[in-house]
Amino acid sequence: MSKRIFVFWCVFFTGQGLLAQDMGFNPDGIEPQTSPFRKFMTNFSFNFQIGYGRTFYTHDIPQLAILRNNGALLLTDDVNPGVDNPISAYRYWLNDPQLINTTFNEDDRLVSSDSTTLRMVGRGHNMPITLSLHYTIKERFRIGGGATFEFHNISRVGPKSGDTLGTYESNFGTTLHRRFFGLAGYRFLAFRNLSYVAEVRAGSFNLGNDYNSELIQKGLFFDVGVSIERHLSEYFRVTLRPSIELKNYTINFPDTEIALQHKMVTPYVSLGASYSIPELRRCPIKSCHIQINHVHGGKEYRSRRHPFYKKQNPNYGENYPQLFRYKGKNKRRL
Ligand SMILES: [Zn+2]
Repeated sequence: MSKRIFVFWCVFFTGQGLLAQDMGFNPDGIEPQTSPFRKFMTNFSFNFQIGYGRTFYTHDIPQLAILRNNGALLLTDDVNPGVDNPISAYRYWLNDPQLINTTFNEDDRLVSSDSTTLRMVGRGHNMPITLSLHYTIKERFRIGGGATFEFHNISRVGPKSGDTLGTYESNFGTTLHRRFFGLAGYRFLAFRNLSYVAEVRAGSFNLGNDYNSELIQKGLFFDVGVSIERHLSEYFRVTLRPSIELKNYTINFPDTEIALQHKMVTPYVSLGASYSIPELRRCPIKSCHIQINHVHGGKEYRSRRHPFYKKQNPNYGENYPQLFRYKGKNKRRL
């Protein structure tokens, strides 16, 4: 048994030594050591994304009638009011239902659900900013979590069929949504410097102060997307993430048994950047011009001649792919 372990360690260390020699310039011939802590840390990626999305709200309104009253789109359970009679109805039923007493005028309209279910659809605009952190396992799997802060407004809500009722007026302009989530991903494709990662996010959401949290019950949100990642260097990537998010909430109308469920479906496109802590420390010698991973005093360093977004361990000349004599005005002298 102990012989086996001995062989294992021999192979392990020789392999390590060879790898380090292959990777860079080692004038001292000493086996470099990489800190296990940095090796662990380099699996973490920090991500920033900014995006755009459109939310489609749908609501089934089974028990209520839609009332157009003085241009506003209200909901009422009084399905048979007389002209010039008082009527109670709810306004701002998407985010903060309030009961108001008004009069049913001659040019008002009322559409009751009868046997069919009334369906309203609405649209919202979203601008999310997401910060996340994930840990990569065996280069393919990732787990992590993050937070999204999102500016949201509702542009239009109206009945699904026919436009004669007019549209819902929201009582807020832009509101701030917040989401906290866990994420899991799987890299299903990688070629050249591109990776494709299927990624799922799930977590809690907060619709902001304009949505009356005392009246709202909500579950979790789910987001499914593909993160397309272009590797600019070993440590820096730019990302493009199309995704679709599903969530819903139920809003209880005050002083009644009425509750309305709102479904929100939001397709997004996000752009971002992703950074990992380099496995090797940057060479500390200011005058050092070595362009590949290399060794000083038994420790391996990465080149200090590359910004973090450029490949750190290029083959010869990759930092300057064009010869100086072919550049700019030198070109004309040829
Ligand atoms: Zn150096």
